[in-house]
Amino acid sequence: MTPVMRGESPAVERQVGVAQPDVDLFHYEHLLDDDERNHLHVLRSILREEVRPQVGEFWDREEFPFDLLPTLARAGLGNLVLGGHSRLFIGLAYAEIARADISLSALVGIHNELVLGLVNELGSEDQKARWLEPLKTFEAIGCFALTEPDHGSDIAGGLETTAERDGDEWVLTGRKRWIGAGTFADFAIVWAKDTTDGQAKAFIVETDRPGWSATKIHRKMGLRIMQNADIELDGVRIPGENLMPGGDGFAAANVKLRDSRAWVGWQGAGAQMAAFEIARDYALQRRQFDRPLAKFQLVQGDLAKIMSNLSSSMALMVRLAQLQEGGTFDMVHAALAKATSTAAARESAALARNILGGNGVLHDYEISKIMNDVEILYTYEGTHEINSLIVGRAVTGQSAFV
Ligand SMILES: Cc1cc2nc3c(=O)[nH]c(=O)nc-3n(C[C@H](O)[C@H](O)[C@H](O)COP(=O)(O)OP(=O)(O)OC[C@H]3O[C@@H](n4cnc5c(N)ncnc54)[C@H](O)[C@@H]3O)c2cc1C
Repeated sequence: MTPVMRGESPAVERQVGVAQPDVDLFHYEHLLDDDERNHLHVLRSILREEVRPQVGEFWDREEFPFDLLPTLARAGLGNLVLGGHSRLFIGLAYAEIARADISLSALVGIHNELVLGLVNELGSEDQKARWLEPLKTFEAIGCFALTEPDHGSDIAGGLETTAERDGDEWVLTGRKRWIGAGTFADFAIVWAKDTTDGQAKAFIVETDRPGWSATKIHRKMGLRIMQNADIELDGVRIPGENLMPGGDGFAAANVKLRDSRAWVGWQGAGAQMAAFEIARDYALQRRQFDRPLAKFQLVQGDLAKIMSNLSSSMALMVRLAQLQEGGTFDMVHAALAKATSTAAARESAALARNILGGNGVLHDYEISKIMNDVEILYTYEGTHEINSLIVGRAVTGQSAFV
């Protein structure tokens, strides 16, 4: 008996005589129309066969698999948000890429929600003409630079990076931290405080400008494929037209952070799909006490709990997609869904890891990678506590922030 290992596509020996359902127990994907469902299946098989088997080595080495970008583009992941898809399709696609690899799903989510979507919604006609087409195929990569070394959760009121108008130019000075793809992006959307009116504003900063430097953050416990960077802006001069016209004030950032929070909720669902399938396949194959682990009631209890977490997260995310379509989507929905799905993902990954026993601690079996990656989901795009406080404010009318 050979346990299931990373990179293999095992023909699992079904030991218990009943059909094992797909991870989508409640058939959420059947809410898609035929075209989108077919598209999702194509995307899933590309990710399962061409992406998932390759990423483990890159994760171990903290390297980004640049050669996979054309594959992600072929799967349509470079242009989800402007591609005319339903919000449910976009969400299920985010879950599928997270099921294959959470770091790459971070790239895809930031790319779509915080770069492509933001240039489209807040950018000038010139900015759109320059960046949108190459972004859609990953020929250009952007990053979203908001967080700073001294301001994470309180960044809305704490921006220290400054933008000073000097004739036809802006001069940007400050530091950013944790910026995903910051080491290799072609440009960054940088949030800085206008020294004249004190307002937060968004600027497009090409990363080859003098004064820009990016240093890779090493030794992360999770999301190791995603290259996060410390950024220094040392009097970086950009033309006046690099100001994003729609990015005047933090309200614009908040609208996009609402959308990106929803994406992280889908990441939590996708991570649980992978955790469930790894744990179930292992439980069916691994034998102890002369029978498969899947025969033991305590193991079945844990698998049922993972499926319960996954299905509940999916239910929340599917409803969120409907609210997004219907125009009644609010920050409280995004905050609650993100906090719930990522907390569930954390629990599900730990339960799945335990089902693999000692093998569960080896990166070779994929689940320890997932367990580490979901820690990041719990923290970025608003920590669990900050999202809980957003829900708390909505349900009590009392803000804990002021
Ligand atoms: C791998 C990774 C990738 C990231 N990618 C990006 C990116 O691409 N672009 C970007 O701009 N940012 C990015 N971030 C930054 C991320 O959004 C921040 O890490 C996050 O907002 C938390 O900020 P912080 O790390 O400074 O923690 P802090 O704000 O210092 O929080 C520390 C702890 O205190 C808690 N806390 C803070 N305030 C309160 C409060 N009022 N009540 C209760 N508890 C509180 C927090 O919940 C947390 O547990 C990334 C982060 C990571 C780790």
